[in-house]
Amino acid sequence: MINIKNYIDGELKENSINTIDIFNPSNGKIYAKCPNSSKEDLETAIDSAEKAFPNWSKLDQINRSQFLIRIANLIEQKLDKFAEAESTDNGKPLTLSKKLDIPRSIKNLRFFASIGEKNDNESFNQDKIQSNILREPLGVVGTISPWNLPLYLFTWKIAPALITGNCVIAKPSEITPYTAYLFSKICIEAKLPKGVLNILHGTGKSIGQRLVKHPKIKAISFTGGTETGKRIAIDASKSLKKISLEMGGKNPVIIFDDCNYNVMIKSLVKSSFLNQGQICLAGSRVYVQETIYERFKKDFIKEVSQLKVGNPFKSDINQGAIVSLDHLNKIKQYIEYAKDEGGQILTGGNIPVVDSKLKTGWYFSPTIIEGLDQESKLNQDEIFGPIVTLNKFKNDNDVIKMANNTNYGLAAIIWSENIDKANKLSKLLEVGLVWINCWLERDLRTPFGGIKNSGYGKEGGKYALDFFTNTKNVCMKYYD
Ligand code: NAD
Repeated sequence: MINIKNYIDGELKENSINTIDIFNPSNGKIYAKCPNSSKEDLETAIDSAEKAFPNWSKLDQINRSQFLIRIANLIEQKLDKFAEAESTDNGKPLTLSKKLDIPRSIKNLRFFASIGEKNDNESFNQDKIQSNILREPLGVVGTISPWNLPLYLFTWKIAPALITGNCVIAKPSEITPYTAYLFSKICIEAKLPKGVLNILHGTGKSIGQRLVKHPKIKAISFTGGTETGKRIAIDASKSLKKISLEMGGKNPVIIFDDCNYNVMIKSLVKSSFLNQGQICLAGSRVYVQETIYERFKKDFIKEVSQLKVGNPFKSDINQGAIVSLDHLNKIKQYIEYAKDEGGQILTGGNIPVVDSKLKTGWYFSPTIIEGLDQESKLNQDEIFGPIVTLNKFKNDNDVIKMANNTNYGLAAIIWSENIDKANKLSKLLEVGLVWINCWLERDLRTPFGGIKNSGYGKEGGKYALDFFTNTKNVCMKYYD
């Protein structure tokens, strides 16, 4: 049994009174315990962060960046261990943890280490007036992250917060705390000054809410579900905190008959089912032009039914386990809704047969459903699992209306060789990010974040640096 600990004031701290069971989704068994942090844990962490802030914020960015680089290098040396931990905790294929989650976490740290160095202050001159814009850290800030990309999204938040001189209280998901725990050990090895980063484990109710409401926390950067984000917006407003909310998605994939068909099909399988469909950016509503619908349907079903679901630690597996029993039950419930709403299940919709030793694990087959109304729950709710709906469209107007017919506004994907048309449609889509002829390509300098119920406040590049700093205008007049 692994005993996950909090990281407070530069040390690993036990909290044996209140603990949470941590499950391995591949076999459904408890493999670790993690603290459900208390009010006292939070007070100690904030106290330590406040003490660390004056020195940390005064350090040159170049010195701060050295710590991020050192931490990134140490993670890279232990990449296999981190990847195994991520897959044990989350159920995702080990190949994915090795190729995507852990390398991207390292990249997040290195990226903000380098962009921070170039984060020069602006200056404006007009007549005899000079205005110098200073960027100053906020103080002690909170980050709250979800279970689907545990270390990836954890580092995506703490790296810009730290490089800009803030001290951080980070709360990883209580469902997947393992890699954040390993990260705290790395911070100790990298000799990160105590109190600069504190990692508190526990539920949203116990520690998340307290962090959001605490008057000494200057900002909250949150990624997670929309209902949680709305609660956080209410709770944070009482102390007028700065907040950034990255929330759910119900992303349309728009496939025109003039697309590069073979490239599209390969990418679509990924945008539908990578990470068991548990990616906020996954394309869960697939819109296909009617001229190619029947051919497409046949080919897509063929590709998807060949995907192998099972033991995340085997290299030939395409889809691993669903993160929790609760989440598996939610996904199963949507199959019942689909049947009630008149949908036809073209493939999947069931619990797959897996290795008999993993029978107690939580698996679900990749599923394609057609014949649903645009207002159906399947086309409106974020399921966050391996289920996509197929929908037919005639022309541009038709598909834009359907694509925008959702409360979410995170991302959209367009497949067409007509780039003028794709660019024109991009302007009409109510989302924060459009991919044309690709999916999940990311330049970390670009803004990231949704609109509508997908959130507000941008992450990425200088947008994240803006969030974690206050600007101060120092305006000076010269006289002859
Ligand atoms: P969740 O909202 O249940 O939990 C996210 C985090 O918030 C967890 O750490 C949780 O403990 C904490 N939390 C819960 N209640 C809280 C409260 N009242 N106050 C403070 N913190 C609280 O989300 P989840 O199930 O972990 O993650 C899945 C969701 O995350 C999906 O909706 C997905 O779309 C979204 N997501 C969005 C993005 C994005 O960038 N837009 C990226 C990944 C995941």
